[in-house]
Amino acid sequence: MLLIGLRLDPLDAVLITHEHTDHINGLARLAARLKVPVFISEATLASLPAKKKLPAVEYFRPGHSFQIGDVLVEPFTIPHDAVDPVGFRFTSAGVRIAQATDLGYITPNVKDMIRGCHALILESNHDLEMLRNGPYPWYVKQRVMSRDGHLSNSATADYLRDEFDAEARLLILAHLSEQNNHPQIARLEASSALEQRDATDTRLVVSSQTEPTEVFTF
Ligand SMILES: [Zn+2]
Ligand SMILES: [Zn+2]
Repeated sequence: MLLIGLRLDPLDAVLITHEHTDHINGLARLAARLKVPVFISEATLASLPAKKKLPAVEYFRPGHSFQIGDVLVEPFTIPHDAVDPVGFRFTSAGVRIAQATDLGYITPNVKDMIRGCHALILESNHDLEMLRNGPYPWYVKQRVMSRDGHLSNSATADYLRDEFDAEARLLILAHLSEQNNHPQIARLEASSALEQRDATDTRLVVSSQTEPTEVFTF
């Protein structure tokens, strides 16, 4: 946020999807620094290492919406190898945004939650060939590819081509693997799927682990 000239003080909360290290590293320090509550499920909090104990916590339950200021937050269950993993849908002033990363496949419930959104942040984790031929141990490869793992570029492309409602004006591909993916490959697969879907009004953005994504205004 600082890199793109945004201040941290307008932040009201931190929301946690699940307990995997890539999602909670630095959480305790961040929450202490921002002095804002961390919204988290009870099971996810219980599974955090003891040193991650947080100053202020608000519990949510998947499937039960709650409010942060004027934003309605709807956490929904996703299939992933964590204790209580969720995606989020946010609604405010008639704008609806959904985020779903870290999921092995797109369940019917996830499809319901991401339908009709104005912006979509969707996982495009790995290229199957790169993963198969890459350096990960076999059991990790199996984990990533499983129904509790991560969405591949082609799984995301299949969804976009066959089921995407083309409502979103913005589609952000997220959670790309550094080892097993390349931004151009992810972009190519998704953009050709969008073309086949005739989703010409949907702008495609590929997010990065090392650079901030631009700010979008609705
Ligand atoms: Zn995860
Ligand atoms: Zn992750």
